[in-house]
Amino acid sequence: MNEERREFPGVDRKERMQLISAGLPIRPPEERVKDFEGVLLIPDADTAIMEAQRCIHCPDPAPCFKACPANNDISLAMWHIEKGKFLEAANVYRQTSSMPEICSLVCPHDQLCQGACPRGRRGEPVLTGLLEAFAIQQQRQVGEYKIPVGGPTGKNVAIIGAGCAGISCAEQLVRKGHQITILDAKPAPGGLLTYGIPNFKLPKEYVFDLWGDLVDAGIEFQPNTFIGKDKNIDELFNEGYDAVFVGVGANVDAPMRVEGEDIPGVINATEFLIRSNVPDELLPENLKTKLEVGDRVAVIGGGDTAADCLRSAVRLGAEEVFCLYRRTEAEMPGNSHDRELATDEGAEYRFLIQPIKFIAGDDGKLAAVECIKMELTEPDDSGRPRPIPIEDTNFIIEVDTIIKALGYWPDETIAKTTPKLQTHKWGLIVTDIETGKTSREGVFAGGDGVTGPDLVVTAMVAGRKAAVSIHEYLT
Ligand SMILES: Cc1cc2nc3c(=O)[nH]c(=O)nc-3n(C[C@H](O)[C@H](O)[C@H](O)COP(=O)(O)OP(=O)(O)OC[C@H]3O[C@@H](n4cnc5c(N)ncnc54)[C@H](O)[C@@H]3O)c2cc1C
Repeated sequence: MNEERREFPGVDRKERMQLISAGLPIRPPEERVKDFEGVLLIPDADTAIMEAQRCIHCPDPAPCFKACPANNDISLAMWHIEKGKFLEAANVYRQTSSMPEICSLVCPHDQLCQGACPRGRRGEPVLTGLLEAFAIQQQRQVGEYKIPVGGPTGKNVAIIGAGCAGISCAEQLVRKGHQITILDAKPAPGGLLTYGIPNFKLPKEYVFDLWGDLVDAGIEFQPNTFIGKDKNIDELFNEGYDAVFVGVGANVDAPMRVEGEDIPGVINATEFLIRSNVPDELLPENLKTKLEVGDRVAVIGGGDTAADCLRSAVRLGAEEVFCLYRRTEAEMPGNSHDRELATDEGAEYRFLIQPIKFIAGDDGKLAAVECIKMELTEPDDSGRPRPIPIEDTNFIIEVDTIIKALGYWPDETIAKTTPKLQTHKWGLIVTDIETGKTSREGVFAGGDGVTGPDLVVTAMVAGRKAAVSIHEYLT
């Protein structure tokens, strides 16, 4: 976009600066902890119009446009909403985003579009994420949306991984008329949208709606297919695929390497979130046993996943739910909004504590965790103060369940079974960041499997960029 002011007739910025936001509509904590239903409430039309009128339509390129990794034309969408043209607003998002129903709910808006809104310097920024969710819900309610499918090209593309990157790549390629098959190791599509992000942040029906659009557009899905074990990329080319996109994410839980990690009651965040949030019929066979967390649950880690685990444990009925983190709140990588929600729901954060040993009771199950107090010293490679143990400060906390939320690594199976596919030494796939091209002819990649753990919106953008180069490659 050029640096200019588009015509939004009648916008009086001074007058608009006086308009007050009704705030983010969320269910009260005492009500929402009783179930796993969505926490955010979608506003009615009048409230949405009033919120959209708060936009002062900054000169192009607007700060919110620049801060959005997808470059959504948010200013134009706000304009349509305030005029009551909700479907037009929804279509503005659909031009640059393959999953606005998801991004509107899970993007860290405070750090992206809303964080860049100049109104946030004095009060509440325009609640752009909420209004995106509103516009897309309006479009769904009138059943208005269909992916426009291009005329058949006769080319077949295999997409490995039905997560954000894979889905977005598929959505763009089907518009060009290519035949798409998505293969995934899990029984259902969605990647971390289905098997990671809890239902109270992202109700699963939004993922099913999105998936329904792809199925209607003719995309085929092969579930329970682990590429690198059930078949490999060379076999996909032999089956007749003309190009392959790899969107496998980074889904291996980082290990902790302390004594007692194998005691029953010590569980990885991924397994915990899947078993507490995913409906039975979508669970992989090995995760179908009932989850019992007991009364005292400790979560180890300081990121968004830790907050999701705390909030899920509260909803499972645990009486005491707390987070153990070895630095202080100032160094926590997770989103402060999620931390506030967790605290409001009754979870507690305990800082400068390092678990060093998990202890079993007489029944062989987890009974306690031994910890040591920490202090901060000079910054380490991450730029954050280095935590070091304080001698002779060991203490014991009684717990029934420990959830380890220490971050994620990529799975190296594909890299090891695909000749000439270059990876970094820790397993992330090497690509040209603009095109998604890998070192292997006809193989493209994007999302967390390339960047390491990141965001839904960045994986979505990577999938879309790769689709552009796959289309060029095929034609
Ligand atoms: C608990 C949690 C909460 C999060 N919350 C947020 C949030 O609120 N907002 C946000 O923006 N981001 C959030 N994220 C991050 C976000 O979910 C990821 O950045 C995003 O899902 C990455 O998309 P992807 O397509 O690269 O990978 P994924 O979504 O991980 O999808 C990869 C898919 O590939 C499949 N796969 C893997 N290996 C193979 C194989 N060899 N063969 C076949 N299939 C394979 C997997 O089964 C999976 O379906 C969260 C992450 C976690 C773990």
